Amino acid sequence: MRLAVIGAGMAGILSAIKLDEAGLTDFTVYEKADRLGGTWRENTYPGLACDVPSHLYSYSFALTPEWSHRFSPGAEIYGYFERVAREHDVVKYMRFGEEVTACEFTGGRWQIETASGHHDEVDVVIAATGVLHHPRYPDIEGLDSFGGACFHSARWDHGVEIDGKRIGIIGTGSTAVQIVGEVTERVRHLTLFQRTAQWIMPQENPAYTDEEKASFREEPRHLTTLHSNLAEAFGIFANAVVDSSSPEIKMIEDACLANLEDNVRDPELRERLRPTYRAACKRLIISPNFYDAIQQPNAEVVTEHIERVEPAGVRTSDGRLHELDVLVLATGFKANAFMRPMRITGRSGRTLDEAWTPRPIAYLSISVPDFPNFFMLNGPNGPVGNFSLIEVAELQFAYISRLIDRIRAGDCREISASADATETLEAERTKAAEKTVWVTGCKSWYLDDRGIPAVWPWPFERFRTEMREPKLEHFEQR
Ligand SMILES: Cc1cc2nc3c(=O)[nH]c(=O)nc-3n(C[C@H](O)[C@H](O)[C@H](O)COP(=O)(O)OP(=O)(O)OC[C@H]3O[C@@H](n4cnc5c(N)ncnc54)[C@H](O)[C@@H]3O)c2cc1C
Repeated sequence: MRLAVIGAGMAGILSAIKLDEAGLTDFTVYEKADRLGGTWRENTYPGLACDVPSHLYSYSFALTPEWSHRFSPGAEIYGYFERVAREHDVVKYMRFGEEVTACEFTGGRWQIETASGHHDEVDVVIAATGVLHHPRYPDIEGLDSFGGACFHSARWDHGVEIDGKRIGIIGTGSTAVQIVGEVTERVRHLTLFQRTAQWIMPQENPAYTDEEKASFREEPRHLTTLHSNLAEAFGIFANAVVDSSSPEIKMIEDACLANLEDNVRDPELRERLRPTYRAACKRLIISPNFYDAIQQPNAEVVTEHIERVEPAGVRTSDGRLHELDVLVLATGFKANAFMRPMRITGRSGRTLDEAWTPRPIAYLSISVPDFPNFFMLNGPNGPVGNFSLIEVAELQFAYISRLIDRIRAGDCREISASADATETLEAERTKAAEKTVWVTGCKSWYLDDRGIPAVWPWPFERFRTEMREPKLEHFEQR
């Protein structure tokens, strides 16, 4: 059996390690960039850190005693993935600088084309192309006319000096909050252009002491226990967000509210920073230092609407020109692009773009009807809330490997979710979404074009249970 994995981020590395372990060594990981790492290669902005604890944001089979902080910085996370890939000797499977442009199912196999003209023919494709991968640029008049440096947060230009400069940040998501926390003390002036205020969950980020790291090294079971305790604790959070009337969501709301009330001194600023929707309706932001930073004398929150960008800075609706040297677009990602713009053609000649009109849909976020032997990690409608996507990908991979085993054992040659099972589950999912906190009155990237959350709306335990064993009656096998 020959396989292709598309993408060498967290999920692609995981796939390579697991395929190798299973003895399925005839595969290539296609990666369009010049090195592995995905998100953690692309995002290098100041202040970048994970927002689930590092000991949870780790592969369960590669726990490490060496994490520096509870929420370790981005460069360290990148280093972790690089090291795990090297130690498991899977870099040899990766072809860098090779962007997959098309996958077509013909003659019972997938024909793969890359931008460089390389062709491959495989039995199984695993798309590990990421969720938060394609930067979303804001549509603001005059953006190109800006005279200083302007870049998206996921394309941070380290050649641009920010120390002592006037910096503007558009956006108020996790990324913007992390940047503000990190750079305010370095810059001359920081302007945060805020369209929507955010709830901020207070969260300390202590460094691990040498003694703690030594105890993890000496007693690896401490690491395992910590990993499973954190997974359980985050399970509580995952359950809270899917039930907007749960006591747990109330606790989160109370903590965020107290953080705002207790830590923002100026009543006028406090009101501008007060969201008008419920906590966790948008992806919950955690920060040890945002309120501190934004109250520094050189920091300013601007809530007036951005009218246009001019060569000297940003003009807001009150007529004021905010003069800037650097403008950072912390405006997020096109979360519903998935592996597109790749052209993917399934069994019936139907393309994925057609199948995904008007919106992406997949069975358990893994399989699309009539796209046999094509599996996704972190595909549409999966659990992407505030918990470890590594755990999600590990569970999904274990599930996918059971489907691959059927092909390998000769039980079938082609397998994909049935249209019936996909539609039934999608109807159930849409209904369940009505109870979640994501529909309680905010706009977020979780919501699809109808305003329905395009994510897993059930407790995480249900996801774990579903991932344990494929219900084969929900699959079409030939
Ligand atoms: C700033 C930021 C912070 C985050 N923090 C957390 C966190 O704390 N906890 C958490 O769980 N998640 C977090 N995430 C989500 C994060 O994206 C995932 O945890 C994880 O890194 C996703 O891994 P992935 O392999 O699925 O995708 P990615 O890391 O996006 O990797 C996808 C790879 O596929 C490659 N690729 C895409 N298309 C093609 C193609 N056509 N051909 C070849 N190669 C292709 C890309 O170049 C990339 O290397 C964060 C995301 C961002 C942006």
